Amino acid sequence: MFNYIQKELDDIINRGFDRTLRIAVTGLSRSGKTAFITSFINQLLSVNQTDNSHLALFEAARNHSISGVKRIAQLNLNIPRFDYEANIKDLMQTPAVWPQSTRGVSETRLAIRYQRRNGLMRHLKEKGTLYLDIFDYPGEWLLDLPLLELDYMQWSLQQQVLMNHEQRAESAKIWTEKLQKCDLNAVADEDILAQIAKDYTAFLADCKARGLHFIQPGRFVLPGELEGAPALQFFPLIHLTPTQWQQLKTTAKADSYFGVLNKRYDYYRRHIVNGFYRDYFSTFDRQVILADCLTPLNHSRQAFHDMQEGLHQLFGNFHYGKRTLLNRLFSPKIDKLMFIATKADHITNDQLPNLISLMRQLVQEGGRYAEYEGIRTEYTAIAAIRATQQVTVNQNGKTFKAIQGVRSKDKQKVTLYPGSVPSKLPNNDFWQRQTFDFDQFEPQTLEVGEPIPHLRMDAVLQFLLADKLD
Ligand code: GDP
Repeated sequence: MFNYIQKELDDIINRGFDRTLRIAVTGLSRSGKTAFITSFINQLLSVNQTDNSHLALFEAARNHSISGVKRIAQLNLNIPRFDYEANIKDLMQTPAVWPQSTRGVSETRLAIRYQRRNGLMRHLKEKGTLYLDIFDYPGEWLLDLPLLELDYMQWSLQQQVLMNHEQRAESAKIWTEKLQKCDLNAVADEDILAQIAKDYTAFLADCKARGLHFIQPGRFVLPGELEGAPALQFFPLIHLTPTQWQQLKTTAKADSYFGVLNKRYDYYRRHIVNGFYRDYFSTFDRQVILADCLTPLNHSRQAFHDMQEGLHQLFGNFHYGKRTLLNRLFSPKIDKLMFIATKADHITNDQLPNLISLMRQLVQEGGRYAEYEGIRTEYTAIAAIRATQQVTVNQNGKTFKAIQGVRSKDKQKVTLYPGSVPSKLPNNDFWQRQTFDFDQFEPQTLEVGEPIPHLRMDAVLQFLLADKLD
């Protein structure tokens, strides 16, 4: 009888303790989103499959208050599912390969069963379930926020200024030549529009390949399910003066090139950009922003500055000051924001504090951090999928730290010291000396039942989930 009553009571209480948490993950392409989400899910699914020592910094795993984690069906049926299984398969191959990178949005849902520790009636063994939705979306899409306030002419004039940049002007030649030949008053030909838009998209992709991150419209380089749609077949009219704009506004008909392009730009802005912010962005509870600070550091001063520029555009989306565009239109409600420097297995662990400090400086530059007020913010450095080992090397009687792994370019096992990471934004001196140098590594083959090797993913789980599992 007592058992029966207890069970009834437990059931009533448990129903009341179910919680939902929506975590979004973003970052520019190749920042490590796919690797991060794959590892995040894997670490949670592997709770209790070993002694949990691989998650020492995650309290709920350490004290065994999580009783089970499983993947369940997501709620949104029109968003692609994050392909966790395929990614794990890639890692289980011999030799293992890196999973396919993010191309659009995806979603996944986990149910985490846990024992409440701070409940009112602890003796009743209160159990709860945390339903965790994880969203993945390209950071490039966040570069479109300013479009919401710019009409076609304003945007085109802005792009005209950008085009003065030597690197951009050069690769823009093909599409600008075609653009200039187009009579904007003539009746629009869909095929010609599609062709010029294709050349324009190729130009944007080329900018990206050259490490230029400020790319608008962001969807053009990562279109997701909109690939080939007319909504993405427009381009800025960078060859027009403000006077020519005014003339065209009076002379051009609705079915002219000018009319159709105006309509498409407006559609893109109102439906695609606005839709993304309204339907996804403003529904998130917590946001993770990933940045690969090490690769650009390895490349050049120009690559680093471009990353900085891209990130600043992206961070602008999280300035929730009362008067910001975002807040006025969508009032998002994020309570925690985590900035993560990825691929930290490329450096020796004594350099981790420098990497975190560099990340912090990138975010806080110019006092911008004050604008994240009201949101708990954390900075860290991780390796979602650790591809190297930390080793100590003896040379000429001296010992020093190094990393060991299989180098991607020649598949050779190497031991190397990649150099020290600057703890502040690198100055001239750094670029002149340029001692930082690392290679890409291959992932280690994952064995069945083994969690993905990582660096500090447990600290990430602790920051994002601990208060929901208490
Ligand atoms: P996404 O475009 O943001 O989804 O980026 P990915 O997660 O696909 O990562 C891009 C590439 O970065 C991968 O193919 C790997 O080469 C590398 N990478 C990502 N995470 C790690 C990591 O934790 N360690 C190492 N060594 N490389 C990583």
